[in-house]
Amino acid sequence: MTIGDKFDEIAALYPDNDALIVLHQDIQWSYRQLQEEVNRCARALLAVGVKRGDRVAIWAPNCSEWTLTQFATAKLGAILVNINPAYRTHELEYALNQSEARFLITANAFKSSNYGEMVYELAPELKASAEGHLKSQKLPYLECVINLSDDKHDGMWRWADFMAESNAISQTDVDDLQATLQFDDAINIQYTSGTTGFPKGATLSHHNILNNGFFVAESMGFTSEDRLVIPVPLYHCFGMVMGNLGCMTHGAAMIYPGEGFDPAGVLQAVHEQRATALYGVPTMFIAELEHPDFASFDLSTLRTGIMAGSICPSAVMQQVIEKMHMKGVQIAYGMTETSPVSTQTGADDSIEKRVSTVGRTQPHLESKIVDPGNGGILPRGEIGELCTRGYSVMLKYWNNEKATAEAIDEAGWMHTGDLATMDEEGYLQIVGRIKDMVIRGGENVYPKEIEEFLYSHPAISEVQVTGVPDKKYGEELIAWVKLNSTSEDVTADDLRAFCKGKITHFKIPRYFKFVDEFPMTVTGKIQKFKMREISIEELG
Ligand code: ATP
Ligand code: MG
Repeated sequence: MTIGDKFDEIAALYPDNDALIVLHQDIQWSYRQLQEEVNRCARALLAVGVKRGDRVAIWAPNCSEWTLTQFATAKLGAILVNINPAYRTHELEYALNQSEARFLITANAFKSSNYGEMVYELAPELKASAEGHLKSQKLPYLECVINLSDDKHDGMWRWADFMAESNAISQTDVDDLQATLQFDDAINIQYTSGTTGFPKGATLSHHNILNNGFFVAESMGFTSEDRLVIPVPLYHCFGMVMGNLGCMTHGAAMIYPGEGFDPAGVLQAVHEQRATALYGVPTMFIAELEHPDFASFDLSTLRTGIMAGSICPSAVMQQVIEKMHMKGVQIAYGMTETSPVSTQTGADDSIEKRVSTVGRTQPHLESKIVDPGNGGILPRGEIGELCTRGYSVMLKYWNNEKATAEAIDEAGWMHTGDLATMDEEGYLQIVGRIKDMVIRGGENVYPKEIEEFLYSHPAISEVQVTGVPDKKYGEELIAWVKLNSTSEDVTADDLRAFCKGKITHFKIPRYFKFVDEFPMTVTGKIQKFKMREISIEELG
């Protein structure tokens, strides 16, 4: 089934259910209203020349237009390219050119930045062309820019004018095109975070993401009565797949509390909208729990949700369950290439299981742990590379056959690049990334284990460990340490002494580097490959 067909089926089943509530835009649409708007957007896209298979990029924070574009492109078989709103001109240029996007939908202003101006920086010809059609030197594929703004920008469509173009097209044109689409057509290009190198364009089909959204929401027991607050970004699969498609496949309500994250806004949205479910990364939940007005919001309608993206401290999990009433809150693991979720904890799992593991493999998917050297399946409990197979594995990396062949083997297994263990009951634990593993004197060292140990030092506020080449041992360990502001006199020798006798000698970092910050992706993930490059240069 395609996303457009599922959407129409749900709109017919639950026409009067709340579908989309966008608090910062004062929008509250039922499924019938959302369907009308989506169809209007699809006709407008046809009117400005979008064809099946065209790449339509969207570079905007969470808003109603984002979701209209997501469902409208799906109805036309156009490929949505999600672009992170934190990207700046260099990254934007990369994503638009790598995906060969003909269309760009962009927000005019978000926080302090001005998207319109940034597009002009890349494509000065835009201003010269009032029709919205251009051929740019720097952006050779881009032909049409639609601006989510009431202001008129030279060379760009204004959203309202663009939507008015829908009048020129009959709905039959959309319906006829929709009827020709296949469930395994590419529908979405999502760039990976770029934690281990350049972001790669995971190319996903209707089948990939529609089913993943469905199963993620199934595991939370979603029905058409559910109301989910989505403070996580739509440009990421957490928002657009686990959020939007999870709700849509069940006739549940998608609620956007704001453009960016604001803890009070999220709590207010839950309270006012009688939400039953809430998403977030652990730091979002922490900010909500610590908000001074926390007690003034009624969160008693909440029952479930997902906390994903990084490890969750057990105290936080406990509080989310007790103070936020989210008894069913779950942890999920996945990657952009697997649409994204492949393992999840269950609502009945103990808190201990929910903080120490990433749960078990989702229905209709397979997991195996293999020896990264020879690919053989390892016994339970041993550390190896996690491989995933099933409906959620992406079609390919966009325009990158080499990387695709390295990631997906002939039998269809996605090699995640993550090191993990699996216990007798099938629960998985993520140990770290293969690329981050250090081999010192023939011993495999997992930086995460050393980082967790060093965190127990009271002076350390943040620590990251990586390897640097060494003549004698092959690699040596270096720890980048950020100290608490009150403990600035702690030295490398103090830290070495702290490790001695508590962790194996070959796991004690040879080098310590004191820093104020770490190299990060625009999504806030730490880039160890850059730490390595910098350390090698500094150590000579
Ligand atoms: P790139 O592939 O460009 O280097 P990336 O792998 O960080 O970047 P994403 O697809 O956004 O890009 O992230 C997926 C990765 O995030 C996984 O491969 C895994 O390393 C990590 N991850 C995801 N969920 C969890 C989790 N619950 N616990 C630990 N790590 C996780
Ligand atoms: Mg990755």
